[in-house]
Parts: sequence; C-alpha cells; structure tokens
Amino acid sequence: MSSLSAASSRPVSLEISYTRFRIYRECPWKYKLLFVDGRKIPLTPKSSFGLSLHRALEAWLESGEISLESLLSFLRSRWLTDGYPDEDSEARSYAKAVRAMTRFHGEEESRRARTVCVEKEFVWASGAHVIRGMIDRIDQSPDGAYELIDYKTGRGAPTPEQVAADRQMRFYALGARRGLGLDPAVLTVDCVVAGERVSAPYDAAGEDALDADIRAAASGIEAAAFPPDTKYCPRCDFKSDCPYSAAKAP
Ligand code: SF4
Repeated sequence: MSSLSAASSRPVSLEISYTRFRIYRECPWKYKLLFVDGRKIPLTPKSSFGLSLHRALEAWLESGEISLESLLSFLRSRWLTDGYPDEDSEARSYAKAVRAMTRFHGEEESRRARTVCVEKEFVWASGAHVIRGMIDRIDQSPDGAYELIDYKTGRGAPTPEQVAADRQMRFYALGARRGLGLDPAVLTVDCVVAGERVSAPYDAAGEDALDADIRAAASGIEAAAFPPDTKYCPRCDFKSDCPYSAAKAP
C-alpha cells in the first residue's frame, strides 16, 4: 500500500520510541523498572481491550479486505482474553468492541480510498540516538495533503487544541518529517469507541524543542540516570511496591 520508505540511519548509541520517551519523562525510575529490570505490567481490562482493537484494526487495514464480516473476523482472531476479572466482564468488553468496530466500518468506506499506509514505521537519527516509531495510519487528501491518524480506544475524545498539542502526535509528526520525508498537514485522533474523529492542523513550530527533549531523555537513559519522580505515582502501576512511591496505600 505504501511507497514511503523509512530513512536509513548511521551507527548510533541508543534507540528510543515514544513509549520509552514518555515513560522516562514521567519517571526515570519507572523507566528503569520496566526497561532495565524487565518488570512487566499486567494487562487490565482497559489495556487488554485497547490492544485487541488495535490488533484487529491493524490486521484488517493491512489485509485490504473491506467487509464488516472480515473486520469482525479479525476482531475475533486478535482478541485478547487476558486482563479481565471474569468471563462476564470479558464478554461485555467483546460486545462493546463489536459495536465499536461496526460503527467504525460504517464510516470507513468513504475514507479508505485515501489511505497511503497503515502501521508505518519511521526511523531517524537525532544526534547520536535513533528515534523510532509506528504511525497507525497515513491518509492523503485529493489536494495531496497528508493526515497522520492515531487510533484511541478510550471513552472520551480530545479537543482539537489537545490534538494539536498532543506530544505523541507531535512525536509522530516529527518522525514523519525527518524519517519519512513527509510533511503532515493534519493530525487526527480517531476515537473508535467514542465514534469521533478529532483533527487539527499540524504546526511544525516547536519541533526543535521536542527534538531536544527526546535527545535529553535518550542521553539520560544512556547515562543510567534514573532518579524517581513522584508526580505520577498516583497513576503508576508500581505505586504499591516501589520504594520511592508517594502513593502507597496506608
Ligand atoms: S511509584 Fe512513583 S517513583 Fe515509583 S516508579 Fe512509579 S512514578 Fe516512579
């Protein structure tokens, strides 16, 4: 489907994805627990549901199939049963996923012709580091403008202002420009459960600052600088057993 190619990179010292960048910025100690010590975060109903939908959408869009039956078939085959407290809970989530996919399919036909690629990887070098990422989908409008699309499976939808400022979307836009040589004009968050697509024009101002932030995180990781940052403790998966946690249960 795609003619876009990821740029090759020269020898570099450390590779960083958006997830690693985000977690290091939230709490370097959490980064260490996850990516140095190899701690795992068990699936929750929310993360299991989101992962299943992403897997189904990715497989269906890549397959070139167009029918609803094929989309639901991919949902069945890519569905993860882990993370739910019981079978009823899983069955309710599966029914919700079927509703979301059915609605998504109803809106999809008019868009599909514009798809340039799905699950598109980008790679680029920033200083001594490799920056790597995967864009859910890239569409192109009749006037040639590129739209970067990210699928979200939460209940709510962001505002256009939030989409324009979203660090993950801007990370992908930077990767599209520097790793794929593609100028995105629009950023879109497709909320497949909420049934809303929220778009914002992409403004490249601030790319250098983001690049500097990514380099700073990569340099910190490379230097094994993992100080705890307790701002995110209340939302951290390790809050109950982390020695630095500021959100342990009394
Ligand atoms: S509990 Fe707090 S200090 Fe510990 S890893 Fe999580 S965010 Fe960092």
